[in-house]
Amino acid sequence: MKAHVLGFPRIGADRELKKAVESYWAGQSSREELLQTGRALRAQHWQQQADAGLDFVTVGDFAFYDQVLNTSALLGVIPGRFGKVESEVDLDTLFRMARGRAPCGCDAVAEEMTKWFDTNYHYIVPEFSVDQTFALKSRQLFAEVEEAQQQGHTVKAVVIGPLTYLWLGKCQGGDFSKLDLLERILPVYAQVFEQLAALGVGWVQVDEPVLALDLPQEWRAAFESAYNRLQRRDISILLATYFAPLDDNLWTAMHLPVAGLHIDVLRSGDEWRRVLDQLPEYKVLSLGVIDGRNIWRANLRQKLDILQQARARIGDRLWVASSCSLLHVPVDLDREEKLAPELRSWLSFAVQKLAEVAILKAAVLAPENAAVQAAFRGSDLAAASRREGRGWKNPVVQAAVTALSARDARRDSAFAVRDAAQAAALGLPLFPTTTIGSFPQTAEIRQARAAFRAGTLDAAGYERAMKAEIALAVSEQEALGIDVLVHGEAERNDMVEYFGEQLSGFAFTQYGWVQSYGSRCVKPPVIVGDVSRPVAMTVDWTSYAQSLTHRPMKGMLTGPVTILCWSFLRDDISREAVALQIALAIRQEVVDLEAAGISIIQIDEPAFREGLPLRKREQAAYWEWAVRAFRVSASGVQDRTQIHTHMCYSEFNDCIEHIAAMDADVITIETARSAMELLRAFEDFAYPNAIGPGVYDIHSPRVPDSAAMQHLLEVAARRIPAARLWVNPDCGLKTRAWPEVKAALKNMVAATVALRAQVGAGA
Ligand code: GLN
Ligand code: ZN
Repeated sequence: MKAHVLGFPRIGADRELKKAVESYWAGQSSREELLQTGRALRAQHWQQQADAGLDFVTVGDFAFYDQVLNTSALLGVIPGRFGKVESEVDLDTLFRMARGRAPCGCDAVAEEMTKWFDTNYHYIVPEFSVDQTFALKSRQLFAEVEEAQQQGHTVKAVVIGPLTYLWLGKCQGGDFSKLDLLERILPVYAQVFEQLAALGVGWVQVDEPVLALDLPQEWRAAFESAYNRLQRRDISILLATYFAPLDDNLWTAMHLPVAGLHIDVLRSGDEWRRVLDQLPEYKVLSLGVIDGRNIWRANLRQKLDILQQARARIGDRLWVASSCSLLHVPVDLDREEKLAPELRSWLSFAVQKLAEVAILKAAVLAPENAAVQAAFRGSDLAAASRREGRGWKNPVVQAAVTALSARDARRDSAFAVRDAAQAAALGLPLFPTTTIGSFPQTAEIRQARAAFRAGTLDAAGYERAMKAEIALAVSEQEALGIDVLVHGEAERNDMVEYFGEQLSGFAFTQYGWVQSYGSRCVKPPVIVGDVSRPVAMTVDWTSYAQSLTHRPMKGMLTGPVTILCWSFLRDDISREAVALQIALAIRQEVVDLEAAGISIIQIDEPAFREGLPLRKREQAAYWEWAVRAFRVSASGVQDRTQIHTHMCYSEFNDCIEHIAAMDADVITIETARSAMELLRAFEDFAYPNAIGPGVYDIHSPRVPDSAAMQHLLEVAARRIPAARLWVNPDCGLKTRAWPEVKAALKNMVAATVALRAQVGAGA
């Protein structure tokens, strides 16, 4: 019997990796310093796994940017624009693939980025050409294995499996099936396994989370042929699945000729029972019972019950594990000294989860052991106090959600009527220009916020500083000739945390960082109890901004589904109930903004697609409540008040009708990075309301030129009626610096002016 985790967060308890990577990009530290930080973090994380009492340390979960990108390097999937790679992919090439730029090498268009399954982690999408070849082009994995071995650890290596890797990629230039590439990719996997075996690695965890998706029959069949070919005697494969039940892939997953199977017990109901019934006799079963997606302390007694049932059936072939990689939870709860002790006793972060996995194994083997008994007593106490939930429950909110009617989720009139009322009220030009909300979060802004938090800047001084930033953003936008302005979000640290801090029902950590993409980390709030809005949250700042200009100022809010998706969620009531509680709070804010004279209000829902369950049979129910929650938040206003929403960085083509059902008057949406691919969705589906497809990729430090943006707009104008087309970047500008923002927006306005002239000339 073994205990292990599927992966560990790589950022470091203090976000050391983020700091090292960014300093390297900025030319402030050397490559050797960056590599050294990587080595130190890996050594520490392996030691923590060993100290906790796990049977392996997991090697291969580290990345300077992204593990899918690392896999592209391993397999030699490097598009030609990044230069020819002879034997080993250089670190700067990886950074150029991820973000278009690195200390060494020419700028190039970055690869696409998208969300990893239903998480808020973003990976770099592999690009395959018709004549794609594969070859081992990175030794990083093997070097890390040796590193861990030298430190005295027993290694389990982890790689992304061939079918998941192909599934995640996209085909460039030509219509071909990615499965055609399988024949070519398998020999490289064989080489990887061979080299791992040669290093003495006994187990390799091969992640195939696509087995938790509704797979086309030919993909399911491909699993059999692929794993038949990958069979070997010198290394054991643990096939890892997670995030959803296996359902109709269960038989396939179970019968592949590999030595072990891992399943996510948190996300697959009681499928583990069926797995136990059918598990082939030669096979190990790793049960992921410790939640890798949430921060609640495990109820050890419930977990042990499952494990004991499994153990009775399969004996030592049972392994105990985290449900998925711990990448999705913060690093260490021990640092959270400011959390109330009771609340803290309800939580568990990655380091604590290592201990939970280990103690469960110990409990299976020796339930009477004193350490086991003590751990169980702690877990029981936490479970009991959480059930009681002192101070976190609010019957008034629960009743308000129950009382919601269909009318609460509907605007007064249909879009056409609202559109006319808004046109009359706002008087905007053709192709109105706007931005998504945030302007650069400069060092001064961050300093002022930090000083305010630390108490060295008083409230009045902080307000003055933020108002100065707002005034600056307004005057810059006026100078650029933008039509619909934003206040710039200087006062917001993060679009979810900012609201969570002002709502009841949320708790905050100090160091609860989780990697979102590359060097970017987020610190999700914890929804602990019922959510409500004690006082208005944004009205003062927005009114101040509006007082500085005659142009419309957009009120800027985060939507209920995004607040939900980007928080750690309570697990004692449904997601739908939580979403509706938040929706009611946002609705009150929307109504207050309207009353304060704000005529355009944007309710951001970048995570709208992300909350979608992976399995089709569960999706209809999600769309229904998610769309309803958005509409509840947006429907308290009059026809002439224009509601915007914004979405980014996910696959929208497959859910455009649900986005339409949200019935926002305007949606601004990311498309620039995938060259307007999104607009293909409009060939089959006539999006009924107004839309601003992003024409400027804000994640790239390159300033897009006006001609390129005009071209994108012309493409868009062929699909979207002129009267309903908006012009905007594809996301907020907080991560950029003012000089590039000004240059890019100047080009964006110029492209719009050119397009207006063209349309005018044509008319
Ligand atoms: N309004 C937010 C901003 O501009 C939206 C961010 C997002 O979509 N992630 O920063
Ligand atoms: Zn965005």
